[in-house]
Amino acid sequence: MSVVLVVNSGSSSFKYQLIDMAGERVLASGLVERIGEPQGRARHTVHVHADPGEPTPAVESATSEIGRRIPDHTAGFQAMLDAFAAHGPSLEAHPPTAVGHRVVHGGARFFAATPIDDLVETGIDELSVLAPLHNPGALQGIRAARRSFADIEHVAVFDTAFHQSMPPEAYTYALDRDLAERHRIRRYGFHGTSHKFVSEAAAAHVGRPLGELRQIVFHLGNGASVTAIDGGRSIDTSMGFTPLEGLVMGTRTGDLDPAILLHLQRRAGLGVDDLDRVLNKESGLVGLAGANDMRDLVSRRAEGDERARLALDVYLHRLRSYAGAYMAQLGGVDVISFTAGVGENTPLVRAGALDRLGFAGVRVDPERNEGAPRGEIVRISSDDSDVTVLVVPTDEEIEIARQTLAACS
Ligand code: AMP
Repeated sequence: MSVVLVVNSGSSSFKYQLIDMAGERVLASGLVERIGEPQGRARHTVHVHADPGEPTPAVESATSEIGRRIPDHTAGFQAMLDAFAAHGPSLEAHPPTAVGHRVVHGGARFFAATPIDDLVETGIDELSVLAPLHNPGALQGIRAARRSFADIEHVAVFDTAFHQSMPPEAYTYALDRDLAERHRIRRYGFHGTSHKFVSEAAAAHVGRPLGELRQIVFHLGNGASVTAIDGGRSIDTSMGFTPLEGLVMGTRTGDLDPAILLHLQRRAGLGVDDLDRVLNKESGLVGLAGANDMRDLVSRRAEGDERARLALDVYLHRLRSYAGAYMAQLGGVDVISFTAGVGENTPLVRAGALDRLGFAGVRVDPERNEGAPRGEIVRISSDDSDVTVLVVPTDEEIEIARQTLAACS
C-alpha cells in the first residue's frame, strides 16, 4: 500500500492530507496554525469512506481543536502526530511512504518534482529572494517534517515547475537583458500544479491523448491565472515574475501599465511598501467594488449595483483578452476548462469569458452551464460546439501526491 502525506507550509501554519494512493482516497486532513503565537490551533479531520472503492469521502468526522502554544513547525508536526494517535487513522496501519511538500517558487532551477536533500533545501532557500513571503515558510515545514519523518523520502513539488516548458519568447520580458539576468527577472508562472492536474483530467474526460490536445485552463480562485497548454506542456501563462501579473484577481491588479507605479511614486508619494499593499491587497475586485467574494458581486450586480457591474465587466474583459490571445498562441483550441473557487462555481463568469468566441466554434450551452453539478467534471459546451468546454474541480493535493510518488520511484 502507498500512502503519501502532503504538506503545504506557510510561515506560521501548515495544512496536511494523508492520502492512500490506491484509489487516491484522503484518509485524514488537517491544519496547524498560529505557530509561534501564544495560542496555537490544530484541527484534524478523519475522512471515513463508506465504500472502499469510493474516491470521495462519504463522511467526515472527528474534528478536534487543540488550543495551546505551538512554538515552531517541529512542535506543529508533533501536534499533528498526536492528533493521528488520538483520532486516527493509525499511522502504524497507514505508514506514509513519502511526504510531498508544496513549494511556491522553484525558479529556473527546479523544473519537476524533486526529492529533497540538503542541497535542494539550500536551493529552495536561495529562491526566497524571489518568493520572500512563501519559500521561507515552506522551508521551515520541510526541515521540521524531515526531522519528524526521518526515514522516508521527502519531495518538493513546485508551483512554477509546470511552466518551465514555456519557450523563451513567452518567458522573456522586453527589459534590458543584463539587468534582467542579474536579478533573475523573467516570467515563471504559478498555479502549475493545478493547471497540470486539470489539463490531465480534462484530457482523460474527453478520452483523447494529452499529447494531441491544445488546451486553455482558467484557474479562477482568489488568485487567478490562465495557461495555454500544448500537448500537455505549458507554453504561456498569465502570471509572470510574481503572481501579480495577468488576470484581475480578488485583491490583485493583474496586468497594469508599469508607468502607473512611477506616477504613483512621483505624484501620490507612495513608497515601495505602500505600492506593494495597494497592488496586492487593495486592488482587483476589492479595489473596484469593495468585495472579493464573487457570490457578493454577482448578487449585487443583479440588484443593479454599478460598482459591482463595472468590476465584473473589467474581470470578464480581461478573461476574454487572454482567451483570444491563447487561442492565437496555440493556433486554435480543443478544450477550455474552468477551475477553482470562481471557475467551478460561477456560471456567469464562465459564460462571459467565452461569449464572443462563437466565430471560433466555442459554444457554451446555457442550461448545462447554469445547472452544472458541483464537485465533478462537467461538459458545459453545446453538442454543436467545435471546442469542448469543461468545469473541472481542481485537486492540488492529489496532484502533489502523484508527483511525489512518481519522483520517489
Ligand atoms: P479559491 O482561491 O479557489 O479558494 O477561491 C476562492 C474564491 O472563490 C472566493 O473568494 C469566491 O470569490 C469564490 N467562490 C467560492 N465559492 C463560491 C461559490 N459557491 N460561488 C461563487 N464564488 C465562489
